[in-house]
Amino acid sequence: MTDVLVIGGGLAGWRAAEAAVKRGASVALVANGVGNSPDIHALNVPVRVDDSVERFIDDTLTSGKGACDPKLVEVLCRESVKLADEFPFDRNADGSYKLLQPLGCSVPRCVSIDHKIGAWILAKIKRDLSDKVEVIHGRVTQLSRTSSLFTIHHSLGDDDGTCTARSVVIATGGWCGKYAFSDNPPELRGDGIDLAVNLGAATRDMDLVQYEPTVALAPAKLRCIPVITTMLYEGATFRNRLGDEFLADKHANKDEISRAILAEIKAGRSVDGGVWFDATGVPREILETTYIDTVRRYASAGVDITREPMLVAPAPHTSLGGLVIDARCRVLRADGSPIPGLFAAGEVTGGVHGANRIGGNAGTEVLVFGRIAGESAA
Ligand SMILES: Cc1cc2nc3c(=O)[nH]c(=O)nc-3n(C[C@H](O)[C@H](O)[C@H](O)COP(=O)(O)OP(=O)(O)OC[C@H]3O[C@@H](n4cnc5c(N)ncnc54)[C@H](O)[C@@H]3O)c2cc1C
Repeated sequence: MTDVLVIGGGLAGWRAAEAAVKRGASVALVANGVGNSPDIHALNVPVRVDDSVERFIDDTLTSGKGACDPKLVEVLCRESVKLADEFPFDRNADGSYKLLQPLGCSVPRCVSIDHKIGAWILAKIKRDLSDKVEVIHGRVTQLSRTSSLFTIHHSLGDDDGTCTARSVVIATGGWCGKYAFSDNPPELRGDGIDLAVNLGAATRDMDLVQYEPTVALAPAKLRCIPVITTMLYEGATFRNRLGDEFLADKHANKDEISRAILAEIKAGRSVDGGVWFDATGVPREILETTYIDTVRRYASAGVDITREPMLVAPAPHTSLGGLVIDARCRVLRADGSPIPGLFAAGEVTGGVHGANRIGGNAGTEVLVFGRIAGESAA
């Protein structure tokens, strides 16, 4: 029996647990894996002098192509600013923030901590909460509600169990793990959506999935691992089987890049079903600092990306649709009324990114809405 039960052990889930503990609630967290959050390289916070919350909102709405919930976008962008007081984002020698420009942002906006902000923040929260949250390793298979209590069944292998909670935060991530060629782990299959729909929750935009344009097809050791697209701004290019460069527009969004690659594949100009992503034009000092993890990863598989291109293809990366929530992360029914005690945050929800997520906005989303969900649940 607990006050708040969080389902999901990614950043949205741990952030919710942290916020609920801070409000004095007893918290348990059930998860069957770590999800995508440890892979978050960078996230968006408008800290540059020529950037602003309004510009961030504008970029997010433009990128979402009319399919965002503007109220959620407003919360995302306004609350993001507080993150700069909370976390020690990397800085340059002159004290300015080290920023990357993700696809879809009109200015450099992506902050990081040692190129691994997701893993860094997860480790910190888990350390801080080590004796404050009961962690259960399991897959939640059933969620029911009687009067004012939820009953949660979980199982993994031969182990199964039941918990009771006053409120529940669903933070089970997206469903892209269902696809054979995807950069998501297989446990991400949209369970949280099923659990909430069974309690009457509404969903939105379930046809919207974002493809990561540059996911490794080869070498086999790196298959399904994405290559960061910000390299495009630093001189990387795409080439087809004939060696011709395509996609001259460096400011294209992820969906436009994926479509351009698909057009090459359909026109018979692919290489083994993909195209070349060529980072040899990125200055060596940038490759060996900002992109050193990619350089090392490929080197470990025998590919020197300072001299050779990478073979990539688009793969399902982020579910854009999901549960309908309001600005307090309450899960809503189709008539707009909240389901008492049920909250959700992160990739399991829809409406924040619309039809196309800006690179870096998911990391911001899980920190901002995870906290709100935890506070609301507590
Ligand atoms: C390779 C990669 C790199 C990325 N890089 C970036 C980046 O640099 N910047 C950015 O903004 N975004 C990035 N993203 C997107 C971002 O990682 C995700 O959108 C974000 O991590 C989602 O967080 P989450 O907490 O909602 O879900 P997740 O982190 O995916 O966590 C979901 C959790 O729910 C658990 N779960 C699922 N079903 C059940 C169940 N039935 N019972 C119990 N537990 C369950 C999972 O095991 C996991 O613990 C990247 C995505 C990928 C795949």
